[in-house]
Amino acid sequence: MLKNHERFFTAAGKRLILIVDDELVNREILSFMLQDKFDVITAADGKEALDIIRDKLSLLSLVLTDIMMPEMDGFELLDAMKADASLRRIPVIVLTSDRQAEVKSLSNGASDFIAKPYNQPEVILARIQKTIELAEDQGIIQSTERDPLTGLLNREFFFKYVEQFDLHHPGASMDAVEIDINHFRLINEIYGWAYGDKVLNRMGTTLVKKAQSSGGIVGRKDADKFLFYAPHDTDYEDFLKELTAQMGVGNENARMHIRLGIFSNADAEPHIELRFDRAKMAGDHIKNDYSRQISYYDQELFSKELFDSQLMDDFERGLKEKQFEVWYQPKFDVKGDKPRLSSAECLIRWRHPKFGMVSPGVFIPLFERSGLIQRLDRYVWEEAARQVAQWRDSYGFTLPVSVNVSRIDMYAPDFVEFFTELMKREKLSPETYFIEITESAYTQDSDQMAAMVTALRDQGFKVEMDDFGSGYSSLNMLANLPIDFIKMDMQFVRSMDVNKKSLRMIELILDIASYLQLPVIAEGVETEQQVKVLKELGCYIIQGYYFSKPLPAAEFEKFIKEAKENA
Ligand code: C2E
Ligand code: CA
Ligand code: CA
Repeated sequence: MLKNHERFFTAAGKRLILIVDDELVNREILSFMLQDKFDVITAADGKEALDIIRDKLSLLSLVLTDIMMPEMDGFELLDAMKADASLRRIPVIVLTSDRQAEVKSLSNGASDFIAKPYNQPEVILARIQKTIELAEDQGIIQSTERDPLTGLLNREFFFKYVEQFDLHHPGASMDAVEIDINHFRLINEIYGWAYGDKVLNRMGTTLVKKAQSSGGIVGRKDADKFLFYAPHDTDYEDFLKELTAQMGVGNENARMHIRLGIFSNADAEPHIELRFDRAKMAGDHIKNDYSRQISYYDQELFSKELFDSQLMDDFERGLKEKQFEVWYQPKFDVKGDKPRLSSAECLIRWRHPKFGMVSPGVFIPLFERSGLIQRLDRYVWEEAARQVAQWRDSYGFTLPVSVNVSRIDMYAPDFVEFFTELMKREKLSPETYFIEITESAYTQDSDQMAAMVTALRDQGFKVEMDDFGSGYSSLNMLANLPIDFIKMDMQFVRSMDVNKKSLRMIELILDIASYLQLPVIAEGVETEQQVKVLKELGCYIIQGYYFSKPLPAAEFEKFIKEAKENA
């Protein structure tokens, strides 16, 4: 018997209470007592109650339950509610005439009990009020359900609501959609944070309206990424138009580029997070393609996903069986008449038993996303240090090397310590151990990075800013950064022969660097002509295929022998 069950929203201000009792008379008496102050719904046993609780989860303030009932008794109901994290927050008061049961119910997680028969209505009302108040206070403390800026469900709760939705709408055809504003960071930078916030807020409002009119659930994943569990018949072209129309104010409109990544018929996949991962994958697929704004998860992406997950599964074993190899690519100093070996960059390779040589361009981004990168990088750093120490011992020549560092590596509390310990262990000087940090790491988290880099340099390590010019670091930021080298993004060198503007950019970078008194490294240098021009412009450290491709340690040794002979 589901009195009021059809009504979803309760009257404003009144709390909703569920009474569970198998005796009609008892339900009626209590309902009568409470109906002035509360909205009341009832159930005749634990099972029916559980359905109602799941359905009204976000609205329900309290459950009053009898103990002895057919189907599912009060203790079982308590157990079921305690076992489910999303139901746990709803307080339960047990209705009983049995002293023994009172104690047991309290120790099983009930908040309070009310003795039958109900002969003191004021006391009962007061106890109920108190219990709800307590639970709500606690709820506020833990309340992270909604994102304060947009009023949307946050990621965690969004997933919970999708779960609930599925439970109650089996067979509904739904799509998982991730909505992303391209280069939102730039909008923030150009128009300021306040404007950026306004855009996000507007996005929130638009999405809520959309969900109200067409159904579905909306949430904010993080920053400029939003989630929409959408009815499958949604017209996404229209939806995109609606969103875009709402987004900009005046001429900024033109700059707002929204992307939709869609995993169609997502309800077929049981894991909610995976559905939205796939939507994200679809969206990321067109990230750099400004001609496309809507992208569906398809067979091609599915194969990629399989490949990626295979690589992740194989990681552990690869590490244990030393399938990962560190290769070395020389950097030459071309200032004098004859190029002189100055150092080498350590680059990881994976000799995969099934796929052959896998390029780091394939697995590094994957391992960065999944957090595996930290272990791999530490392996590389150790391996490189061990190798350099071995060369020193056999040739009496210490080759300075540089290692790559991912942004996530720097969040480890023992990040700097790891390097200092490593230097001690291999008896190497930190001055010969360079650390390459990509420019985008600085722009994403500049304070943290600056602190880390300072700590590294305090220990004597040298720091190179990798891929310089590919990100958005301002001159101002650069001037304040504690670094030792600038490593120009390969793109500049690559296009210098064909493109006058590129050449001009290189000149600019070299000007800035000389003003900051920082040496510049050029990488991706392939031709003699490029070396010549770079040298004329004042760039003296050169890395690239012109001198050598990255080589396994054994092959690289020839450079060390040569350097030793020339020394
Ligand atoms: P990166 O740090 O910018 O490394 C330079 C890349 O350019 C290397 O690719 C190198 O082989 C390639 N390269 C060098 N000279 C030339 C040239 O003259 N022409 C061309 N076309 N390419 C050249 P690789 O080894 O495939 O590495 C790709 C990226 O993977 C690296 O870019 C780096 O971001 C990442 N990576 C490599 N090893 C590691 C590692 O141990 N840890 C981390 N976190 N990332 C790594
Ligand atoms: Ca590098
Ligand atoms: Ca680079």
